[in-house]
Amino acid sequence: MLYLGGLGRSGTTVLERVLGELPGTCSVGELVHLWQRGVLDDETCGCGSPFSRCPFWTEVGSRAFGGWDPALATRMEELRPRVDRTRFIPRLLVPRLLGRHRADLQEYVATFLRLHRAISETAGGAVVIDSSKHSSLAFCLRSEPEIDLRVVHVVRDSRGVAYSWTKEVLRPEATAGEALMTRYSPARSAALWVGHNLFFGLLGRLGTPTRLLRYEDFVADPGTVLVELADFAGLPLGPGALDFLDGSSVMLTPSHTVAGNPMRFRTGATTLRRDDAWRSDLPQGRRRLVSALTSPLLLRYGYFRGHSRRATR
Ligand SMILES: [Zn+2]
Repeated sequence: MLYLGGLGRSGTTVLERVLGELPGTCSVGELVHLWQRGVLDDETCGCGSPFSRCPFWTEVGSRAFGGWDPALATRMEELRPRVDRTRFIPRLLVPRLLGRHRADLQEYVATFLRLHRAISETAGGAVVIDSSKHSSLAFCLRSEPEIDLRVVHVVRDSRGVAYSWTKEVLRPEATAGEALMTRYSPARSAALWVGHNLFFGLLGRLGTPTRLLRYEDFVADPGTVLVELADFAGLPLGPGALDFLDGSSVMLTPSHTVAGNPMRFRTGATTLRRDDAWRSDLPQGRRRLVSALTSPLLLRYGYFRGHSRRATR
């Protein structure tokens, strides 16, 4: 499986949608939210159907669990705060430190394994693309040797990320409750940006196959990045595999994404372009604050060298 990691508002949704157009892949949105938003809240799938009436997810549920059981989803939502939290990452490195929660981790991850297998089978043996983003879920999944986990660590300029977190964004799929996406102050998003990026860097150093990708490099040259990521995912690209892409214009077809940024509902011709609104709209004081808090990593990722140099490894 290909796991797209990084802090939210870093372009993972658009990357996922484009990757999902490659033959042999199946993009499913943010699987971490499947239990609550899909199974329990019956929110809208990327295909436009409610989760419970989407033929794809109905078949996945049937293959994995003999049908979707709200009790299983409730159980997964109970397990998640016990193991899948950023603050547990140090303990996830040495599972015996989890103590009584070690069994919780095994149960949590085993359920994801069944889910991944059923998704791949339903999609004809496809590589599953999960854009859950959270570093903690990636650390959970790496504890299960049966999961062939490959991580794309997506980074975007922290000032663009911080600006995006200050904006009000509607959640069109919400059927009840919160209709707006979460907002963070620039200081909060800067701290989260540093934390998530450090953890994804650590994941790579611990041996989980990890590929660093700057969002800005992806939108500048999506074709080259797609070829590199297909190779990273072990996905052979036949003739015409990139026909959905013409320069920076991409033809998006509906996908069965279970949760994520509202961009997951977009279909048809879409132009990929860098969102640089923060350069004019993020107030100077906030910009300086975010730059100061995140400068060591901005430097490491090449953001002070301008955007011409590729940081992909
Ligand atoms: Zn669907």
